[in-house]
Formats: sequence, C-alpha cells, structure tokens
Amino acid sequence: MKVTIVPAGMNLIELLAGHLVASPTDFSRILVVFPEQRPGHYLRKALGEKMGHSFLPPTIFSLDDFIDFLYSRFLGREESLLETVEAVSLLYDLNEVSPEHSFSGQKESKLTFDEFFPVGNKIFQDLEELKMGLITTDKFLAIDELAGEKIPEKTRTRLQKMSYFYENFYREVEQRSFSTRASRLEKVLEKIEPGWFSSFDEVILAGFYLLTAAEFELLNKVLEAEKTRFFVLKGAGWEEMMKRIRVDRSEIEEIDEAEGSSGEESSVLAPELEFCQSPDGHGQLFHLNNLLADKISRPAELNEKQVIVLPAVETLIPVVEQTLARLPETGYNISVGYPLTRTPLYNFFDSLFKLLETAEEDSSDGASSLPPEQRFRLYVSDYLNFVLHPYTKNIYFPATPRTAEHTRILFHLMENNFNQKKGRLFWSLEEMAADPDLRDSLEKYTGENPAYPRSSEFIQHLRSIHQQTIIPFLSLKNINDFAAKSIGLLDFISEESTAPLHVLFEPYARAFYQQLEILQSQLLTRQKFSRRSGYFQLFRRLFSEARVRFPGTPLRGLQVLGFWETRCLQFDDVYLLDLNDDVLPGTSKVDSLLPAPLRKALGLRYHENLEKRIEYYLSLLVAGAKNVHYFFIENDEKQKSRYVEKSLWKKQKKEKETDENKYIKKVSYRLALQTPNPPDIPKTEKILGYLDNMTLSASGLNTYLKCPVEFFYARVLGLSEKEELAESLESSEIGTLVHAILRQYFWPDLKKKRLPKSDTDRLKTLIDAEFNQRRYPSPLTGSLFLMRKQIEQHLEEFLLAYQQKVASELQAAGQDLILLELEKDFKLDYKLGQRTFQLKGKIDRIEKRGEYLCLLDYKTSASERNQVINIDKLELGDRSSWPQAIKSLQLPFYQLLASAKYQLPPEDIYSAVIILGRNHLNEKIEYSPLKGRKGSKPKGQVEKIFPLSESDEEKLKRQQNFRLIEQVIDQLLLEIVDSNQPFSARFKAEDSCTYCPFTSFCGQ
Ligand code: SF4
Repeated sequence: MKVTIVPAGMNLIELLAGHLVASPTDFSRILVVFPEQRPGHYLRKALGEKMGHSFLPPTIFSLDDFIDFLYSRFLGREESLLETVEAVSLLYDLNEVSPEHSFSGQKESKLTFDEFFPVGNKIFQDLEELKMGLITTDKFLAIDELAGEKIPEKTRTRLQKMSYFYENFYREVEQRSFSTRASRLEKVLEKIEPGWFSSFDEVILAGFYLLTAAEFELLNKVLEAEKTRFFVLKGAGWEEMMKRIRVDRSEIEEIDEAEGSSGEESSVLAPELEFCQSPDGHGQLFHLNNLLADKISRPAELNEKQVIVLPAVETLIPVVEQTLARLPETGYNISVGYPLTRTPLYNFFDSLFKLLETAEEDSSDGASSLPPEQRFRLYVSDYLNFVLHPYTKNIYFPATPRTAEHTRILFHLMENNFNQKKGRLFWSLEEMAADPDLRDSLEKYTGENPAYPRSSEFIQHLRSIHQQTIIPFLSLKNINDFAAKSIGLLDFISEESTAPLHVLFEPYARAFYQQLEILQSQLLTRQKFSRRSGYFQLFRRLFSEARVRFPGTPLRGLQVLGFWETRCLQFDDVYLLDLNDDVLPGTSKVDSLLPAPLRKALGLRYHENLEKRIEYYLSLLVAGAKNVHYFFIENDEKQKSRYVEKSLWKKQKKEKETDENKYIKKVSYRLALQTPNPPDIPKTEKILGYLDNMTLSASGLNTYLKCPVEFFYARVLGLSEKEELAESLESSEIGTLVHAILRQYFWPDLKKKRLPKSDTDRLKTLIDAEFNQRRYPSPLTGSLFLMRKQIEQHLEEFLLAYQQKVASELQAAGQDLILLELEKDFKLDYKLGQRTFQLKGKIDRIEKRGEYLCLLDYKTSASERNQVINIDKLELGDRSSWPQAIKSLQLPFYQLLASAKYQLPPEDIYSAVIILGRNHLNEKIEYSPLKGRKGSKPKGQVEKIFPLSESDEEKLKRQQNFRLIEQVIDQLLLEIVDSNQPFSARFKAEDSCTYCPFTSFCGQ
C-alpha cells in the first residue's frame, strides 16, 4: 500500500516504530521524512525502547533537510543558500541595471540601497512564494484572465516589474552559483525519478498536511518510487490533503479506529477538556502553576508525555521564571525559538545605535578635518543609556586583578556631572573626556581611595572605551564594514567585560555571530547605505526574525514547545497557553506586493492554508491527549481563539448544552493593588534641629503639601532620583533658555514709564546669542533645531499677542505698565507666634499695573493644571482636603515674600502665572489661581486683563481666598516643625505616588 490513513488519536511515532521493528530490513536502509526535525528524536527513542540494544537508526529528515539531501546527493550541487539580505542585494543590482523596470517609479531617478531595502525584502518573499507555487512567468503575466477582472494600470505596471525580477533574479542566482529554498526544490523537481530511492528498502513520508504546490509535487514524485509509503493523519480537514495526492484508491488503506487509542470524536477515550479563561497573562500562569503544583513538588512525576505549548513566544520568559524556575534543570526541556530582539545583547547594540542615530555632525568650515571624537556631538541622554547598559558599565578596567568596579564608578560620576549641568544636551566625546569637572570628581574620588587608579588612568580608560565602542560606527563604508565592526564590538564585550557571566550570554552571543556573519557576505561588499541610520535599520530588520534556541535535553522531563514543534507528536497532558485569536491563527495580513485577487487567482492562499494547517495539527494534538487545558485571555482587547470557540461549540452540541459558560473556568486572582501607606517617620532631635534652620522655598512647601514623607526624603535627607535625568533634560533646558531670553529682552525696559513696542528682531538676536553661548552643534539639526524654532515662534507670539496687547489695553484705560524687577531673589523672616521661619524665592517678574503690584511667573508647560487652587474643595478644618484642593502654593507664597519688601498687605498683591507652552498665545495665557474659576464672570461681562475688569466683589473674593490660603501656609509651616507630628503619608495627595521618585522606598 502506498498510503496509510491513520486515525486521529493514534500515536504516529509508536505506529512507525512498530512498523519498522516488524519489517525484516536493516533500519539503516530506511528513509523517513517528517515535516520537521523533532519527531525524528522521538522515533529514534521509540525504536531504542523497542529494540533494547544498539542499532543503526534509519535516515530521518525534516522536509527542508530532505530537499537539501536530494539537491546535493543526486544533483551533485553545493551552491550555498542565499540569505534574505543577500537576495535583496542581488535584486538591487537588477533594479539598477534596468531603469525601465526600476521600483523608483521614475526612469531617470535611481533608488538608493536604503530606499530599495524594504521593497526588496517583499519582492524576494513574493518571488519565492511564486516559485513554490509553481507559477511560471507566462502564467504570472496572463494577469487579466487569472484575476478575472480588469487590473488597474498602476498595478499592472508593478506586476510587470515583478515579472522582470521573476525572470531575471533566478537566472542571476544560478549564474552567481547561489541557490534559494525555492530554486533548490525547482531543480530537484526537474530531475527527480524513482531510481533515486533504489538504495532504500523503504521511504516513509509521514505527518504532512497542506503544503505549497512545489512541495506537493515533490511528495507525489517520491510516491512514484515503488517502496514509498505515506502516512496521513486523519486530523480536521484531512480530505483536502488526499485530493492533492496522486495515488490510486486501491493503494490506500485505512487503519481501523478501534486498533488504536480513540480520537476526539470517540466517546470512550475522548480527552478531558478544560477551558481556562483569564483576565491577563498573569492569570493564566497563576492557573498553570496551580495545575502543575503537585508535579512540581515531585519532579519525578514530570515526563516527556506532558507539554506546555507556547504559540506566543513572549510567554516563554514568564513561564521560565515563574513555572520552570522551581524545577531542576533536568526536569524540563525547552524547544522554542526565543527572539533575539528580546535579549540584553540586542538592547546593548540597540542603545548604541540609538546614540549614533541622534549624533549631530559639525558641518561648519574646517570641521571635516577634525577627528570623529571632536566632529560629532552626542545626545547626553542617549549616551548615558548606552554607557549605563550593564555590558558597557561592566567593561574591565585595565588593572590586575581584573575588575569592572572602576568603570561603573567612572560612568556614574559622569552621570552625576551631566545631571548637574542640565544646560548642555550635546557633547563631543573629546569634550566629555576633557571635562575639568569630571577630572575634579575623579580626583576627589581617587583622593579618598589611595589604592584606586589615578584620575588620568580613568580618563584614558574612558577614551579607550569610546574607541572600542562608539567611534568605529561614526563612519561606515559599507555593509561588510558595518558587520566587521559589529563583530569586533561583540568580541570586545565578550572578552573585556563581565557580559559572559550573565545568564545565557553564550547562546545569545553565538546566535549574534551567526547573524552578523551573514552581513559579511561577498554579495554585500559593494552595498552601502547613504545614511548611517540605514545600517542600524538593516541590523534591526535582520534580527527581527532571528531566534535563539535554548539549550535542553530533548525528550526528558516536562516539554515546553512552540505550536509547530508539536506536529506529529502525542502527549498525555497538554497545556495550551495564549489561545487567543490574535495569536492563533494571528493576523491575516499578508505583506505582499501582489494584490489579493491576483494571489487568489494564482492559488497563493497563504493565510487560508495557514488557518487550515493550524486546525489540522491542533485537532491531532488534542485527539492524542488524555487531558487538554486550553488557556485564553479575555478582556477588552483579547478574544478567545476561533479554535477554542469551535471546540466549545462541539462540546455543547454533543452534550446539548446551550450555555458555553458552564464549561469555562474563570480564573480570578486577587491582587493587593492598594499598598498601605508607609510608616510614619518620627522627628528626632537631630531632624528637628535641621528643620529649625531650614530655609523654605515655595517648591519645598509644595512637596510637603503633596506628601510629607516625600518632603522628608527630598528636603531633609536630600535624596534625588538620578534616572529621571534623561527625561527631564529637555524640558528643564527649554525652561532655562526661555527664562534667560526673556530676562535679557526685558532688562532694558526696567523702570520705564511705558513698555516699548515689541521688537521681534531684537528677540531673535537674543535667541541666537543664547544658543551660541550654549555651544550647541552648528548648524542645529534634529530635535535641537525644532526646539529653537518652537522657542522663537512662542516667544514672538508672546510679545505680539500677549505682551503688546496687555500694554496697549492698559494704556487705553489710562493705566501705566511699569516693569519693576526681573528674576528678583527674596528672603523673608516670617514670624508665626514665637517662631520665625526663613522663607525664600525668586520671582520672575514684578510689575505695576496702575496702582496694583503684580507678580508674574513664567511657565513653559501647556496648561495651568498644576497651579489650580480649588477654594470650593478646601475645608480648613479637614487637613486631608488641602492637597486635593491646592495644586500649588507658589503664588500666595510669593505674595507673602513681596509684601514685606513693598510694604503692602499681601492680599492686595496680584499674582499670576504666564502659560507659555500653549498652542496659541494671547492674553488668556495669564492665569491667577486666587481669582477663582475661569469663566466665573456674570453673563455678558467680558474678562479683561487684570485689573481692568475686576469688580469690587471679585477683588474682595480674591483677598478672602488669599487669607484662606495664608492660613494653610501658616499651619503647614508649624506642622513641619511640630515635634509631635511625624512625617506621615496620611495626608498625601491622591495621585502623589504616581510620579514620586521614592516609590521603592515606600513600597508603593
Ligand atoms: S511614594 Fe507616595 S507615600 Fe512615598 S514619599 Fe512618594 S508620594 Fe509619599
């Protein structure tokens, strides 16, 4: 018989082993082909168990290996397989030589390799798919009839270009002595004949389902050989497979179901199904751990008949950490490819490439002759990300014995220094190494530790790290050069840092070398990108598909497999995780240049076939098991997989049950998301002494109002969070620049009786001068260029749409606007009963509007949200209402500071913030929190600039509001120094922990 139909639920491996043992022939004269490699391990093991002694095993191949075997053994060909990137390079050359077929869209303009690269990838995939689909060029060009509809001209042109590549690419591959998966199979099909298999007593094909047209053709050709036998498993939709096999009905036999264990349909030994619905990934692991708890406590009970199936590879690490970590290493085997993009090594390269992508090159006169460490300036935030990566900061210092401690100290000192100099975003490597502040910090550090190397040695080490890591990538000649430098860097990190001591570094590094060596291909020697970032994109693309295999002992202990690795295998207990529709079958989008109707007409139904293949193999996996646990997540974004739905429906039909929920186990777990407040911190004598002498600013008082515990950490212990540097750099930089520019702009206008007309030319000159003084790279590019533009635009609008308007409105009303002070420092001894508090502050701008003293503070934020005082929510007697009602005490605090100097009652002083970060600037950017809610004016009355439209009633309200807030300030000051009041989080604002840097201290 040629074809044997095997009932679902029968163990294919056992069946084959029994078949082989029963035959009189020597196993080594048998050839077995499976869809993939893994069943081969199981078959050898099953034969070993049956034989009980050593033996020569059969030749066992996966389908790909089988094609390679035929290609080299019978065609005598050894051409190496083209990697995708090499194929794209060949296609690019073809694109170059034939402008009329070029993908540039215009005959005269050529695409650079960067531009061609993404489209080249798609062309290669499509060409391979066409060839595997046995589509000839003629058939491909008979587009109209195939698609059954008129194809738009643009699409037709694109397809003609494709046909040009289809005709020429494989010719070129052949001429240059390469091969592809599809071209190998094509060559095999041209020559294959039954005689090829005469040296085998039997050829067994087993476990295949819906293949490409060319693969089907291969199976059929092999079946023509006399001693071939094809085992077809009777999974869901198996009949479709049979339609593609060319055998006579008389040559088909079917094993009776009763002969083997029953399939899913059988009422006798149908597997127990459990459907576990979880709200998220934690829930499914929580339930998996519960199910395995007994076995995990007795690892001897775990064996290769139990499998955790991971269709979503991202679940692997949580499973390793939360489930397998409790088992001995011999208790499980993982056979899932883990994406290299999720490894620390990838992060290392990626952080370096991000740093290089944001590097600014000095293009001023004469700059091109400078060495790279002077010519390029690097963005500090990206630089810190790279040097603080565990692999970089653990590069060994050149000392004996080897230690990485000094390197860590060096980079953390640099981090501190950058933190203190937030004004500069871009530094050249030379500037970093020559920074006198770094030398001072190092000398201070080494002075305290005489056994340490000298500061000059640290700086030499820094330069050397720059030379080994960053500088080589600042100029790249071509892809080979990029590959050589990446391999050099990997060598350096492997030999000169503690990276090899990190878990799994070795398999990751091996996989990296393999990928990078692809880029050293001869074919890529000439290819270069016009921009540096092209190489980094290529790197990301190359690694996006790359996987690393975890080491493990096959066939021992609990098996952890990807979905496709379960093909042809049978397990007793199956734990199928992540059975969600977006995972299995996954997205239906096919990334192809061929339009969907044409793909359909050509029979390229990749996704449809994929769905059928999943269903087929899943049905077999389930049918062969005793217990199957389907895990799926259900929430707003995720739905159970269609295969779970089908299985549920089948069960409902069989048991005549209308409610599917009866079968679903809903996994819920309780998380204590609300962490208790941290314990109170009592005020010791020492702390009270410190508080007595403390000078308080408005921001200190705001911190206390927000959370007294945060005040203790930040203001008493003086702790701060370093990691925020990268984030805060840009906004603080903008704030500093804007304040400096406005101060200089208004400085000549101080004390003038009338504010002069706005002068935007002078403003621009000042902006230029301020940027030049900060030594940014010239000309400005990227984010700095945008920042410069934004500042210029906003400040111009501020002068014309706010400042000038305010001045002229006041003037029209007969009131003068006189600037009194800019960035004025204040200090005040503030008496409350027996106690005196030292208060301080800097007020951006003080002006007179008519008879009123006005205090203004510039904010570069886009909203007044952080300044709001909601008097309606404030209950003086209810301390907990204060942080909810008051977002900032800054302006009333300033009123107190200014009242002493100007000898005015503080409530008579007006205060406001100017919100400069709004999209549109006008007089409404002035916001005074004590004036009450916006839009609270009676209907019909227009809100004007202060004080023009303020009624007596509104003035009284503003004064009353101040008095209320003044009481809050007074009570907070007294509370801070009260020995009976510990620092307590009881009164913190509701959302205060969200952005607090001390959450880890408090366990929040
Ligand atoms: S984490 Fe929360 S409780 Fe702790 S200091 Fe910060 S704001 Fe206060």
